[in-house]
Amino acid sequence: MHHAAADYGQKNMRQVLEAILAHDRQQNWPAISYHVVYLPRTREVAWVGDWNTIRYHAAGVPAIGINNVTGIGVCAAVNYEFVDPDQQAIDDLNGIVDWIVSLLPQRLKTVGHKDVWPTICPGGGWWTTWKAKVRGTA
Ligand SMILES: [Zn+2]
Repeated sequence: MHHAAADYGQKNMRQVLEAILAHDRQQNWPAISYHVVYLPRTREVAWVGDWNTIRYHAAGVPAIGINNVTGIGVCAAVNYEFVDPDQQAIDDLNGIVDWIVSLLPQRLKTVGHKDVWPTICPGGGWWTTWKAKVRGTA
């Protein structure tokens, strides 16, 4: 689970995806670094990448690390550094987790980026306060 650590204002999903892609290209990554992007403002969900593709969402250096090989990256296109997701966003994120689980034969645990790498993602110290509301974290 990630947040984009960015404020996209009134951008629509296509503009958000273009902004994420521009950032990721600057990092020299081959594609958008998530499998799924969720835009809380509009409640849109974009399935960006096939589960079988490696996305550069949780490794650091080197960019291709075990978390990227085994993990599915879901990003809320918002900044949760100082605010928690509201109930609608939690419900939508749980819906995304349920959808992913329904498509995969194996059980995956939901983790925040900061659970596997030293970062503030998916948000300040706040992930600890809303983590328990996201399915699959226990
Ligand atoms: Zn992250």
